[in-house]
Amino acid sequence: MNPSEENLEYLRQRMVDEQLLRRDIRDKNVTSVFRKVPRHRFVDPAMRLEAYGDFPVSIGKGQTISQPYMVALMAQVLDVKKNDKVLEIGTGSGYETAILAELGGEIFSIERIEGLAKKAGKVLEEFGYKNIHIKTGDGTLGWQEHAPFDKIIVTASSQDAPQPLLDQLREGGKMVMPVGSRFTQRLLVLEKEKGRISERDVCGCVFVPLIGEFGWGENCAGKDS
Ligand code: SAM
Repeated sequence: MNPSEENLEYLRQRMVDEQLLRRDIRDKNVTSVFRKVPRHRFVDPAMRLEAYGDFPVSIGKGQTISQPYMVALMAQVLDVKKNDKVLEIGTGSGYETAILAELGGEIFSIERIEGLAKKAGKVLEEFGYKNIHIKTGDGTLGWQEHAPFDKIIVTASSQDAPQPLLDQLREGGKMVMPVGSRFTQRLLVLEKEKGRISERDVCGCVFVPLIGEFGWGENCAGKDS
């Protein structure tokens, strides 16, 4: 049976109450956009109920839409301000892109897999966002023509932060990204001050690999292997 819009709306509010507020998501801007953006629209129609579960959901091509809590945590630590220029690496379903756009940023999002980028672009267009720009490509290289960025968010993991992204981060800017081994990582916040990068460890996490010139190789081989 297809869930009704009322049912999905109820699940969305419950997701915020039980998965975000009962943990450490305190930023009211973040919780209010989570109450608004219909997460079920970013997954396959057969997965609409699962979209509000406390876990990642497959979006095809071996990729996932991250767990709601992880999307919220990254948005909270990134602290997007109105008109911030934000670079997102790993558009995926486009859900997190919508969250960042609702927070007021101008979003430049790069997805490596063309099919996902196109699908996400179509959904986001249906919502009428004017502050989202998507392209297909290797996000580890950044998006030089729009740099520098106030904020950078990387939604796939690597052994370390890609140098081009650190170079394209504005002075005083902030970047959030999972860094570590192939199967387990730490979520890091990197800040650039006087040209130097400081690092803060937020929590442990598990993300799909960032595949590209400054990430993992195609078969997920590290730089040294
Ligand atoms: N935040 C997304 C959402 O809300 O659906 C989920 C992102 S998913 C966890 C990570 C994405 O990063 C995948 O779609 C994957 O194809 C993409 N990715 C991996 N390496 C990439 C690269 N070098 N450049 C751009 N995207 C990349």
